[in-house]
Amino acid sequence: MIGRSWRRHGIRLFAALALLMLAGWLMGHTGVVLLVGLSGYLVWQLFNIGRLDQWLSDEQRSPPESLGIWADIFDQIHTLEKLNQRQLEQNRKIIREFRSMTDALPDATLVLDEQDAITWFNEAARKLLALKNPEDLGQPVTNLLRDPDLADWISAASQLESRFEMSSPLDVNVRLSVSALRHREDQRLLILRDVTDLHNLEQVRRDFVANVSHELRTPLTVLTGYLESLRGYDDVELTPAIERMQDQAMQMQALLTDLLELSRLQESTQSPLDEPIDVCAMLLQLREQAEEISRGRHSIQIDCERGLQLLGNRKDIESAFRNLLSNAVKYTPAPGNIHITWRREPDALVLRVSDTGLGIPSRSIPRLTERFYRVGSDRARQRGGTGLGLAIVKHALNSHDARLEVESTLGEGSTFSCIFPLTREVSSQA
Ligand code: ADP
Repeated sequence: MIGRSWRRHGIRLFAALALLMLAGWLMGHTGVVLLVGLSGYLVWQLFNIGRLDQWLSDEQRSPPESLGIWADIFDQIHTLEKLNQRQLEQNRKIIREFRSMTDALPDATLVLDEQDAITWFNEAARKLLALKNPEDLGQPVTNLLRDPDLADWISAASQLESRFEMSSPLDVNVRLSVSALRHREDQRLLILRDVTDLHNLEQVRRDFVANVSHELRTPLTVLTGYLESLRGYDDVELTPAIERMQDQAMQMQALLTDLLELSRLQESTQSPLDEPIDVCAMLLQLREQAEEISRGRHSIQIDCERGLQLLGNRKDIESAFRNLLSNAVKYTPAPGNIHITWRREPDALVLRVSDTGLGIPSRSIPRLTERFYRVGSDRARQRGGTGLGLAIVKHALNSHDARLEVESTLGEGSTFSCIFPLTREVSSQA
């Protein structure tokens, strides 16, 4: 459009110049007439530039009236400005909709910058965490949610996609589950969800299992006592039945022991009683227990880095290592080799239990630590398994910031590795 009016303007200018030259020639003063004409043209241009400047600095006014190329320029700018306004209004609408959407979210959502300062939060964050807008914007989140474990969790880059549970700063009975997502290179999204109902339900389930297990223990002890005395009667018909009953009672006892152990571990999510553990001495003791189960069918070797002590809860760690060792014995047919190593590796402290046993199909490995998961339920039951051993191991390791890794080849053997962070080494804590 402007292109076309420029052409028109050019033609008019050219025609005016030609007329001026003709008039000047007729008057015998071509130069003077041309100068006067061009000065007039220059004044008109300056006048319009002034009006443009005035109009642009005053947002409210409608475009000035003008002629020729200037009328087109004013129109064009006016159209662009209207388009801009429309776009701006549309953007404002999108922001309003986004705000009302995020305010309708039941989860408290906060945006944190690189320094973990809050740059934005929604309505649920205001209600759930009593955050104030705009006073709390720009404040480090850990100044407002004062939980030392939360501060550690937020600062640990590796835990970005994990979850953290804490009590609400407003009411200790309200449990919040916190998760964080990297939203941009320099921004994180912190999402806090009220999981009080779920938490209470889980507590009820845990209490129920623990109570039932506890209550079943006494009658079972009475039953096994009577079965023991009945074995004294040398009755050919009764003896096989009593033996079977005794086997089943033992299996039930093992199950109750594991259930109680698991609920004890679940109760203490953090490991409060950290103490230096002489892992080598512990392994020697556990080997004696494993040899009792093995009854000479396995060779059990320990390769231990002397003096390498672990900071942890002795009872939990012993429970985890005992389960790994007894599994190695249970699932390794005679004659089998079991090899235990405890050493410091470049970036972790590692306990490995390797066996030359049955092995585990690769599809089962991710499910091993599920409660009651067994690889081929028959083979586990025949060997006195409860299906809870590795769940116990996982819980014990979790509360020590450690993880379990399993490598196995079916028919050749398995290696279970407990990987502890170097911060768990006793000397590094001193
Ligand atoms: P269980 O008490 O039945 O042994 P676990 O939780 O300790 O339960 O183990 C889960 C399953 O993993 C077991 O049923 C067993 O099939 C398999 N498993 C555990 N350790 C080993 C091992 N060292 N070799 C082969 N299979 C194993």
